[in-house]
Amino acid sequence: MMNTPSPGSIQLVIASQNVHKVREFRTMLKNLPQLDLLSLRDFPDYLPLPETGSSFEEIAIAKAVHAAQTLQQWVLAEDSGLIVPALAGAPGIFSARYAGENATDLDNRKKLLEEMRHLLDDDRCAYYECCIAIASPEGLEKCVRGTCEGKIALAEKGNNGFGYDSLFIKHEYNKTFAELEESIKNRVSHRRKALDKLLPTLESLNVLLH
Ligand code: IMP
Repeated sequence: MMNTPSPGSIQLVIASQNVHKVREFRTMLKNLPQLDLLSLRDFPDYLPLPETGSSFEEIAIAKAVHAAQTLQQWVLAEDSGLIVPALAGAPGIFSARYAGENATDLDNRKKLLEEMRHLLDDDRCAYYECCIAIASPEGLEKCVRGTCEGKIALAEKGNNGFGYDSLFIKHEYNKTFAELEESIKNRVSHRRKALDKLLPTLESLNVLLH
């Protein structure tokens, strides 16, 4: 199932199971045509690590290093989530399974609204955090972090995005991420901010590899 790299290109596997994240990364990396982007769909036999770790950074690094060693490829992996300081940092690293192990995004949003029903104004502040790690078969190359600040709405609004986007009102826009165009989210998101810090490494990959 492996793709043959086109001449002069560098294969980089986006090691995420989340189709929305893979799509965002593909869009944000399209200005680097020397990267031949693969995803875990290209490696159907690969069994990702069960998520362990106590921070976004630790989890992103573990995902990247494990996938890079197993697949013998350069790998980009990320871990991200929503942090509500008034809820002591919840849902945090448990964002994907806030309402339980097999929870859907809708279940998680309902639980968040319920937990925050008594909170007003400043107590509804929240931010997304994303850590992206890049690893080669030899080990970790770099790990970067990005955040995006906003607040949690009283009810869902908008149809774009995924996860908590219909509840996350981005400061400066006064709209939820689900109401904003995907191109705007991709300019200001936590994932974008982390990725920007990784660009020098991604741009120099051909030097590292050839
Ligand atoms: P992960 O796959 O363990 O990193 O889970 C990330 C979870 O955090 C997702 O399932 C979402 O619930 C949430 N999340 C991370 N980034 C975003 C985003 O850009 N929009 C909405 N929710 C997000």
